[in-house]
Amino acid sequence: MSARSDASEVVVIGGGIAGVATAYYLARAGVPVVLCEKGRVAGEQSSRNWGWIRKQGRDPRELPAIILALRLWEELAEAVDEDIGWRRSGIAYLAESEAELARHAAWLPHAQAHQLDTRLLSLAETDALLGQEARRFKGALFTASDARAEPGLAVPALARAATAQGADIRERCAVRALDLQAGRVAGVITEHGRIVCRAAVLAGGAWSALFLRHHRVELPQLKVKASVQRTTPGPLITETAVGASRAAFRRRQDGGYTLARSGAVTFDITPAALRHFRAFLPALREKWGEMKLRIGRPFVDELTTAASWAVDRPTPFERTRVLDPALDHAVLDQVIRDAAVLFPQLQGVRPVKRWAGMIDVTPDEIPVLGTVDGLPGLLIATGFSGHGFGIGPAAGYLTAQLAMGKTPLVDLHPFRFTRFREGDVTRFG
Ligand SMILES: Cc1cc2nc3c(=O)[nH]c(=O)nc-3n(C[C@H](O)[C@H](O)[C@H](O)COP(=O)(O)OP(=O)(O)OC[C@H]3O[C@@H](n4cnc5c(N)ncnc54)[C@H](O)[C@@H]3O)c2cc1C
Repeated sequence: MSARSDASEVVVIGGGIAGVATAYYLARAGVPVVLCEKGRVAGEQSSRNWGWIRKQGRDPRELPAIILALRLWEELAEAVDEDIGWRRSGIAYLAESEAELARHAAWLPHAQAHQLDTRLLSLAETDALLGQEARRFKGALFTASDARAEPGLAVPALARAATAQGADIRERCAVRALDLQAGRVAGVITEHGRIVCRAAVLAGGAWSALFLRHHRVELPQLKVKASVQRTTPGPLITETAVGASRAAFRRRQDGGYTLARSGAVTFDITPAALRHFRAFLPALREKWGEMKLRIGRPFVDELTTAASWAVDRPTPFERTRVLDPALDHAVLDQVIRDAAVLFPQLQGVRPVKRWAGMIDVTPDEIPVLGTVDGLPGLLIATGFSGHGFGIGPAAGYLTAQLAMGKTPLVDLHPFRFTRFREGDVTRFG
């Protein structure tokens, strides 16, 4: 380890959307901030996602934050001065049966409570949206003001904007541990040395729980793997991002489609899964049918990954610079076949690139934002449970407010860390 020592007000751990947005808002407010990313900015979930930015269908506890996030996205799209694919082109959830339509309709009262423009599309409106006369779908839940952006472009552009505001963003710089003095954060220990700081923000995505375990703090957070593909350019069906139970698509800036299936995830049983089995049981039960459960290599890998390590030697964060899991070709092949039936305009498209991402989930599938009991000086922004791209700018904005000692614009009580200990982990839906 080099002897380089450094100082800043705040150190952000993790260069996904949550960390980068936090650094951006701190830098914009004139607060000195260093962001350490073990691999590359947005190398993990934040570039691998579908790019949907939605209020629709959310857990109502997240609505104030996602409403704020859409406002911030609008501003950021202007501020970054690059085309990041931001479009308010709407989101639609299709229903193939009356029962599915009723399930979608059950969300309308939440939309009304927040004066959202969400509504049900009639059969004819749904056909018009899809350029079909098939009457295949019974209707759709639709929010015109929901949006999309290109994940691979948006977060790196935001990182450049943060740098322009004065943030110091360091790639290939793993944080090995917090530097605790008299029981509170006095700095962080990176692979390149120590950085003294007043506060640290843990925005480590799928790695946050492991990082905290080193400090004997247990965060119930598991990982599920989801596979995605982008296709050759195809005819424009609609600019709206569209989800059906067997296939979901989003028009890309390059004229192709990001095509995948919601819920088609692989869950590896690991020691952490066993530790948190009770907390995650309700979520597991609901997703049982869709989810592939496996026990294999990840179990052994996790078992052999020490939860505690010497800070003067390479740690698990340096051994896996970018989490790049093996993808599920069978699921993606099936999605291509299903999409061709559901949306005949997609019959000619072919996959160009496929990838997978590890989604970090909490038992109640809402994030953890705020302080961490027992580790004063540490803030956390993690656990976005598969929908953190959309809400990311708000997570960063609110975390930056906390780091500056301000009252956050949105009540963060539902996202407090202590809810797991309190047993207040009700899932929505
Ligand atoms: C296939 C897929 C589809 C999705 N679709 C959507 C969607 O359409 N809409 C939506 O809103 N969300 C979606 N999501 C979820 C969304 O991508 C995530 O919730 C969001 O990107 C999480 O951001 P993050 O910053 O918390 O984590 P990440 O983007 O995972 O970033 C965490 C970063 O922290 C770094 N790190 C970890 N530990 C350390 C350390 N010790 N030192 C230094 N760096 C460290 C990692 O290298 C990583 O880059 C999807 C996710 C996937 C995988």
